[in-house]
Amino acid sequence: MSKSFNEKRMKVLANAGRVVIKVGSAVLTSDDGLDLRVVNRLADQIALIHDRGVDIILVSSGAVAAGCQVLSSCRAKSDLVFKQAASAIGQSRLMHAYDEVFSRYKKVTAQVLLTREDLNNRERFINARNTMIQLLGWRVIPIVNENDTVAVQELKFGDNDALAALVLNLVEADLFINLTSADGVFSDNPLENPQAERIECIEDIGIAPIENMCKGKTRQGSGGMYSKLLAARKAAQLGVPTLILSGRDRFCLERAFEGQNFGTWIDPCSKAISSRKFWLAYNLEPSGEIEIDKGAARAVFEKGKSLLPAGIVSVSGEFGKGALVRITEKGGSRKPAVGLTNYSSSELGMILGKKSSEIEKLLGQCLYPEAVHRDNLLLEAVGL
Ligand code: GLU
Repeated sequence: MSKSFNEKRMKVLANAGRVVIKVGSAVLTSDDGLDLRVVNRLADQIALIHDRGVDIILVSSGAVAAGCQVLSSCRAKSDLVFKQAASAIGQSRLMHAYDEVFSRYKKVTAQVLLTREDLNNRERFINARNTMIQLLGWRVIPIVNENDTVAVQELKFGDNDALAALVLNLVEADLFINLTSADGVFSDNPLENPQAERIECIEDIGIAPIENMCKGKTRQGSGGMYSKLLAARKAAQLGVPTLILSGRDRFCLERAFEGQNFGTWIDPCSKAISSRKFWLAYNLEPSGEIEIDKGAARAVFEKGKSLLPAGIVSVSGEFGKGALVRITEKGGSRKPAVGLTNYSSSELGMILGKKSSEIEKLLGQCLYPEAVHRDNLLLEAVGL
C-alpha cells in the first residue's frame, strides 16, 4: 500500500463526522437466525466511535432472518409475501436486540423504515432528511431498514446496499462503511483461486471493471459484491469514500479506525455531483428512453453540454414533461446518462432531429431550447 494512500485513508477515518455503516444479513445471522454475539460486538465498537463525537447511521438487514428464526418450520420459503410477513415479525426483534445492547452504552436508537416511494417523493425525502438530522442532533443512532412489509417488488430498493447509497445522500454522510461477509474486494474468487489478491484501494471506481471482478455475478438486488460495488460507485459520485470490510472480523471497526490496512478502500470521485442531481438520478425511476446521435453524445458526455432536440434520434416510452429518462448513444457503448426532460414523449416525437429555433413553429411555443438541461443531467448513471 502506498504511503499516500494509507495517509489519505487514515485522514478520512480520523476526520469523519458522519458515517453510514451498513451491515448485511450474511454478517448478522448464523444458521440459527440472528446472531446476538455479532450484534453485541458491533454495538460495542459503534458506541466507542460514537463516543468520539462521530454521528453513526446504521443500515441493518436481518429482519427477515430474525422472523424466520421464529417461523423455523418455513425457513426455506423465499417468495416476496413470505419475506414481507417474516420481516414484520423479525423487524421488532431486530430493533429490540439493538435497543437492548446499545442501551448498555447509554445510547438511544431509532427505527427508520423506508420505501423507495418515500425517497422518490421530494417532499417526503426532505421530511425524512429533517427527521434524520433531528435524531442525529439528539445524538441518537438511527437504524435504517427497508419497510419490507409494504414494499412491492418493482419498488423495492433491491437490497440494502442500494438503500444505504441513498441514505448517504439523505444524511449527507462523509464516509460509507459496508460490512460484508468477505474480506474486501478480491482480484478473483478467493474460495476458488488461492492466488486471488485483496484489492487494497480502488482509485477510480467509475472505470473499474466491476462486472469482471464479480465474475459475471451481476444480478442486482441479490446482495453480493456486485451490489456493494454499485453502491460504492454511487457513493463515489456523491464524493463519499467507501470502505468494504469483513463484518465477521470481531474488531473490524476498531481496527479500521486505528488505521490498519484491511478490506478495500474506494476513493470518491474528485468532482462530486450535487445532492439534488444524485437524488433525481437514483431516487426516481426512468420512465422512458431517448437515443441520441454521435455528435450529441460527444457534446453531452464529453463537453458537459445540454441535450438539444436536434441530437435526438428516437424516443421510447410514454412520459410527461419533467420525467426522468435514460439517455443512450445510438450504436455507442457509453454508460447511459439520466436526466429530467423538458418535454413530454409526444412533444419530443415532434421536435426530434429539429433545430431549437424550429420548436416554436412545431409546438406553438418554445419554453426551453434544450430537451434536457445539463443541470438536470447525470452522466454515467450507475445501474440504470
Ligand atoms: N430488508 C431485508 C431484511 O431486513 C434485507 C435486505 C438486504 O439484506 O439487502 O432482512
